[in-house]
Amino acid sequence: MPDPLNFLSLLTGSFATPAAENPTVAMIEAAYRHHGLDARYINCDVARDDLGDAVRGAWSMGWGGFNCSIPHKVAVIEHLDGLDDSAALIGAVNCVVRRADRWIGANTDGQGFLESLRTVVDPAGKSLVLFGAGGAARAIAVESALAGAASISVVNRDRNRGMELVALLNERTQTRADLVVWDTTFRVPEGSDIVVNATSVGLFPDVEARLNLDPDSLGPGMVVADVIPNPPRTRLLRDAQARGATVLDGLDMLVNQGVISILHWTGVDADPTVMRRKLEDLFEV
Ligand code: NDP
Repeated sequence: MPDPLNFLSLLTGSFATPAAENPTVAMIEAAYRHHGLDARYINCDVARDDLGDAVRGAWSMGWGGFNCSIPHKVAVIEHLDGLDDSAALIGAVNCVVRRADRWIGANTDGQGFLESLRTVVDPAGKSLVLFGAGGAARAIAVESALAGAASISVVNRDRNRGMELVALLNERTQTRADLVVWDTTFRVPEGSDIVVNATSVGLFPDVEARLNLDPDSLGPGMVVADVIPNPPRTRLLRDAQARGATVLDGLDMLVNQGVISILHWTGVDADPTVMRRKLEDLFEV
């Protein structure tokens, strides 16, 4: 229990822009309350040019750590003192931790995704189809490769960004990676085990947006996952479920990466059900 005569709370939060639609604060504070932690999470709208000042300010004010979201996940690195192994490999940071008087950058996106994936399938030895090659896709691809995925097909519109990710996977991990430049309607190859949307297609407000994908190439025996947390039941997941696939929504990934962040900042292994329930209340699912 917190000391009732200690009036100095642990400060954490998020730096992003835009920030108003980010529900992370509600989810993390629900966990802080549930576990009786004297900690706060402050959602900050930080402009690109102000990121360095924000990081230095958080340090001066004794913050325990913070999340970074769009557009700061790569830019924040130059303001930190070090990176953990997966953040270094992914090349992006979404969780910063004060550790022994240093700001250390971690990446919990891919780890949160894997935790959610493992509730239905172990990626070891499996073949993945991954839509996107941005920050979320890089984190998911690297962690899936480190978890032993046999192959990863990256499907992305922009060839250069796609090639960069494929080269990283082939050069730095044991997985076999290839690129499909996404300029026509894609059909998921038969025998694919895991299909992941890591693009921003389907994110609120464009909730009916559909991937350029033949939904009839999805089917039983596949796990189809979406990173989009809002709305959780995306068009892709509805299409996949209607064709007998097992589906995973982006809420669990959000919750699990929050659990890992809280562990980094407080040492407490937070209850994910409390956090998921808070998000479900907010999104009315
Ligand atoms: P980035 O901007 O880094 O990457 C976006 C990716 O989406 C790129 O690969 C881009 O392709 C692709 N893309 C965008 N629009 C389209 C389109 N119309 N058709 C095909 N591809 C498209 O974003 P992030 O990777 O940081 O975030 C992606 C999504 O992941 C966001 O919606 C975010 O909310 C979600 N996310 C969810 C998390 C969770 O915990 N649930 C955690 C982190 C992110 P191209 O390279 O060709 O432009």
